[in-house]
Amino acid sequence: MSLFEKLVLPFGTKPASGWVKWYHKGVPDVEGKEREGARKVAETNRHCKICTVLSGDYFPSINIPKYPQHPYCDCKLFSIVKPNLQAFAKCALQKFEGYIFKSDKSKGKTVLFESWGYTIEDSEYLKSEFERQAKQKYLSGEYSLQFLDEHGQRLTIVIELKTKNKNVKIKTGWMVHPLGVITCATPYSGEIK
Ligand SMILES: [Zn+2]
Repeated sequence: MSLFEKLVLPFGTKPASGWVKWYHKGVPDVEGKEREGARKVAETNRHCKICTVLSGDYFPSINIPKYPQHPYCDCKLFSIVKPNLQAFAKCALQKFEGYIFKSDKSKGKTVLFESWGYTIEDSEYLKSEFERQAKQKYLSGEYSLQFLDEHGQRLTIVIELKTKNKNVKIKTGWMVHPLGVITCATPYSGEIK
């Protein structure tokens, strides 16, 4: 356990404020082979896939997945001491260059973004703006929890974009990873009017 995981909260309780780290015994926080191997071992010991994929994920305590997930859940929540809290929102440039503005893949979305005054040249700007706003909203708990399965917890985050004559609010989809990382999976899933 590292320094910031100071306090294990009594089972089934969550703090009224602050941040928590989800923890399932034996699952390393860093993604990759070691983590996946540990998850397989846990599964063969009849531990729940959903609980093990959440292990290591950070959530602001005002907006966490259902806890405990199920009867006989082995998960624990640790409080994260604030100076050690870090969050990272990552959105691949490809989400714009290779998807939104790739009209053979998503003609409707290209047309929409272009109607707002954005072109493929703005991909870098959009990437950094998505990352900036998503990080801020993740930190403040301003997201809605979406589908949770053995691949992870998905979030919907609303991003605001300046357009020629108004601001638009769009829904974007993110996946939660261990140690405060979220990645953009869906750069556009609808506009909020
Ligand atoms: Zn559990």
